Amino acid sequence: MQVAFIGLGNMGAPMAINLVKAGHSVKAFDLSAEALERVKAEGGQSAASALEAVQGAEVVISMLPASQHVEGLYLGKDGQSGLLAAIARGALIIDSSTIAASTSQKVAKAAAAAGIDFIDAPVSGGTGGAIAGTLTFMVGGSDAQLARAQPLLEKMGANIFHAGAVGAGQTAKICNNMLLGILMVGTSEAIALGVANGLDPKVLSEIMRRSSGGNWALEKYNPFPGVHENAPASKGYAGGFGTNLMLKDLGLAQENAIATQASTPLGGLARSIYAAHSLSGHGAEDFSSVIKMLQKKA
Ligand code: NAD
Repeated sequence: MQVAFIGLGNMGAPMAINLVKAGHSVKAFDLSAEALERVKAEGGQSAASALEAVQGAEVVISMLPASQHVEGLYLGKDGQSGLLAAIARGALIIDSSTIAASTSQKVAKAAAAAGIDFIDAPVSGGTGGAIAGTLTFMVGGSDAQLARAQPLLEKMGANIFHAGAVGAGQTAKICNNMLLGILMVGTSEAIALGVANGLDPKVLSEIMRRSSGGNWALEKYNPFPGVHENAPASKGYAGGFGTNLMLKDLGLAQENAIATQASTPLGGLARSIYAAHSLSGHGAEDFSSVIKMLQKKA
């Protein structure tokens, strides 16, 4: 299949590479030349612009940071000069970025008017899942649209869920990430407390992993350096899932909670904690670096 892939960051690059490995023809574009090189080195074709990438594409996949990037890409600043005008009628857009459900719905509506299918398909599983091709996809769209996307999603993920109509994938994703943000703060607090009391972080993490506190951070994404060799914490909190991206997701969850008058006290507190962490200069580090806020200084 002829695929255009736009946004080759920590997640997009390994996802695009998995499609190349599965035998698809992938024309990729990112604003960063370095990101483009990574995909080119694995057999992808590099395009000089998003416009060039979508020429002849049957499917366009985007993996961008936030709502404004996705809206800007497809609709353009004035709502008309975006990429939609250059994508072939009958093509399918799979947007895997985590953005506001309302933005997905807005772009989907404009796409439908141009005869293009659009689904939101945000993911979970981290960079490890993106590399291994074991991501969880949360899809918003029709049954027929999901059926079109399925063969490609299967090459990048192990779990594909149909959350509902367009935008529903994003709603599921912000519920999940609100929980993840809270769990990472809680896990960090517990490890910091144990370490302050002289416990070995590896031993304590293993005890909690196999006890009632067990969770994904303790399983594969420990915030304490050296516990999980491949986790960002053991690589100076580089790569992974940026604090600012977690902050964006917790903001989306709070916007939604305000709009629906939902009570999300821990989600709100977690957003404030990551906001303070970002303001102290840790916005570009992986979100598990939030443990630094909670540790005793040497
Ligand atoms: P990233 O910052 O590593 O990558 C984003 C990429 O998009 C960058 O390479 C940037 O140059 C590129 N970009 C921005 N605007 C562009 C444009 N107009 N045209 C082309 N390229 C453009 O981010 P990431 O960690 O890969 O995350 C991407 C999305 O996936 C975010 O919405 C994030 O919330 C979500 N997500 C991330 C993770 C994770 O573990 N990192 C997990 C699940 C979901």
